[in-house]
Amino acid sequence: MAEIVIRNLRKEFGSFVAVRESSFTIGDGEFFMLLGPSGCGKTTTLRMIAGLELPTAGDILLDGENVAQVPASRRDIAFVFQMFALYPHMNVRQNLAYPLKNQGMARADIRRRVDEVARILGIVSILDSGVGRLSGGDRQRVALGRAIVREPKAFLMDEPLGALDAEFREHMAEELRALHNRMNATTVYVTHDQLEAMQMGDKIVVMNHGVVEQFGTPQEIYDHPATMFVADFIGSPPMNFLRFTGTFERGATSVHLSGVDIAVPELRQEAAGREIALGVRPEHVRLSDGGAYRGCVDATEYLGTTQIVTLQCDNGTVKARIPASQHAIIGETVGLEFSTATLSLFDAGSGRALVTAANEGAFRG
Ligand code: ATP
Repeated sequence: MAEIVIRNLRKEFGSFVAVRESSFTIGDGEFFMLLGPSGCGKTTTLRMIAGLELPTAGDILLDGENVAQVPASRRDIAFVFQMFALYPHMNVRQNLAYPLKNQGMARADIRRRVDEVARILGIVSILDSGVGRLSGGDRQRVALGRAIVREPKAFLMDEPLGALDAEFREHMAEELRALHNRMNATTVYVTHDQLEAMQMGDKIVVMNHGVVEQFGTPQEIYDHPATMFVADFIGSPPMNFLRFTGTFERGATSVHLSGVDIAVPELRQEAAGREIALGVRPEHVRLSDGGAYRGCVDATEYLGTTQIVTLQCDNGTVKARIPASQHAIIGETVGLEFSTATLSLFDAGSGRALVTAANEGAFRG
């Protein structure tokens, strides 16, 4: 299997820049997610790794060898296309054997390899079935098997679960992850679904308008978003932003919001006269009668064990995730308390996180 290093990768289509100077490393054996909204350049990045699209500039190192300008057929990477694309006139065994036959492998070796992959995927019992009569799940397993038999250096998948209904999607996601844990194959997976990325990925790259916003583990990205875009894109409901203008010295440990001092992680940079956004995740807001920073309850949304309470505050709207058993009455004014260590601060102009004692060292390049 392989490590894939992406260095200053750029792709232009005419005057349009689809991917801008992207850099990140996909570790050997990692399940790696390319995440972002539609049109952000995920598929273009994946296609460049596959060799289906040549970069305008930059490097793609596959186990140390620069393959940026090497044709797809010589990269030894399997692109798991649309998972349902099987040869309809062949049975499962023939579908699985096809890529090996193409390589000119001996019949006995093909048989051994196909049997082994069928065992890994749990499809031994359907090896002689025609693909036309298979369930959706089995079709996906066969399509995956066709990529696995080649024993490539890495697998690339573009929204492979996108067409499935929610329940089946969850099941296939678990299966894919379990399969990865058994095989430990480097996998690059494109999705626009932040939950899928968080659940399945060892590492995530978050892209926006062709730019890598952040690269890290799901927890690093959730706890320490590098930008307001990431903070907003990850999490449901997303991070709240309380906006104000302030000047802070390096070493400051509180911010002043509507006459109230709020403790924050120690600032490790200064911020002079800028519009600042104080970022707080809904689950890190507590509602109390006594809290000095106040907000008016606007709406409540019951979710079983928790509820989402929407509050209007001087510095913006705040959603709080609190226990369902706690009373929140629409129209009442209550205090909001924030867990200091979990707070983020952003330069609202650039959207970038300010460096604090909590996030220092959390962002990877
Ligand atoms: P989606 O989830 O919608 O596929 P994506 O993040 O995968 O989004 P890409 O498919 O990489 O996005 O596309 C990025 C941008 O590049 C889009 O604006 C798209 O229209 C543009 N683009 C992609 N391929 C081409 C092409 N061959 N010629 C011109 N523009 C292209």
